[in-house]
Amino acid sequence: MGEWGNRRMRAHRLSHSSMLPFIHRPLRAAVYYDREDIRVESLEEPEIGLGELLVRVKASGICGTDLVKILNRKVRPPAILGHEIAGEVIKAGPQVKSFKVGDRVVVAHHVPCYNCHYCRHQNYAMCRFYKASNVDPGGFSEYIRVPELHTSHTTFLIPPQLSYDQAIFMEPLACCLKSIRRCNFQPGDTAVVVGLGPMGLMMVQLINLFHARVLGVDLLDSRLELGLQLGAARVVSAQPEAVKQAAMEFSEGRGVDAVILTAGTGETLVQALELVRDSGTINSFASVPPGSLAPLDPNILYHREITLYGSYSSAPTDLAHALKYLETGKVDVNPLITHRLPLERFPQALQLLTEKKALKVIMVP
Ligand SMILES: [Zn+2]
Ligand SMILES: [Zn+2]
Repeated sequence: MGEWGNRRMRAHRLSHSSMLPFIHRPLRAAVYYDREDIRVESLEEPEIGLGELLVRVKASGICGTDLVKILNRKVRPPAILGHEIAGEVIKAGPQVKSFKVGDRVVVAHHVPCYNCHYCRHQNYAMCRFYKASNVDPGGFSEYIRVPELHTSHTTFLIPPQLSYDQAIFMEPLACCLKSIRRCNFQPGDTAVVVGLGPMGLMMVQLINLFHARVLGVDLLDSRLELGLQLGAARVVSAQPEAVKQAAMEFSEGRGVDAVILTAGTGETLVQALELVRDSGTINSFASVPPGSLAPLDPNILYHREITLYGSYSSAPTDLAHALKYLETGKVDVNPLITHRLPLERFPQALQLLTEKKALKVIMVP
């Protein structure tokens, strides 16, 4: 998931002096200026510190949060987004022990400080340092500098059986994993997953690994079909009455143990109360359109003991576990990769995603 708030692009414009040969190579990056103004520009290659890496980006996935930030102008321009990043180590600082030049690595963009009130409670994604931390200048770039703490905690060797394209799913899969752990699924449990985009389709597979069954919900037939292919026991088109009926049939009339909202509006959250069983859980896992509210009756939460929780981003442990699920083939991401595009075609990538003609678009800088 995306970083918190805005991050000013720290890379410097290519100055005349830096255009001299053998000083700095220019790197190309897709720079956000406005919704319909994303330019490929040349920037100065970042210099690395003693414990840092320079990585040549080979694959960089577009996350739903990148799309939301761009379409809703939630990031201050100029900015370079992109946080599902895999590439090859080009330089390693002398104090780096775990990686060497030539290693294939996958890098996540946020790292906790492990030292604040939030971190002591293991609420790593709420750590202020975590939200502010990032790779430099961002994933939609030919090269990135990986800071020291990221090198230590959020950078992993890509197992030989995984491609760069597959490895970029480590970060989004980790978000899914963190989220569904809180459902405490028992074998035989049932869940509704609303939204069968890349996140929902990974959720379906993870929930199956906990031996629970999934009812998948989406507006698009093609995504419902893919949901079945990737392990949903049943799917239903996103019409409230039809979903409610299916959820009851799916759960012996009780309502499902958990509802995972990877898409929708405030209204979807209210509808989830009619799908979940007493003492069940509802997981708010995606942003909703700006201004979309959920008028809740607190009496329902109280009398029916409903747990409603949000889950944002992940922690380094989740990253390690997610990579293991990818390595062992427990989660298949190949059907999710629908497009690979060069940076110059970023506007087209956004259009494909907006029109829901793509699942995961991977930019190849
Ligand atoms: Zn993301
Ligand atoms: Zn912290």
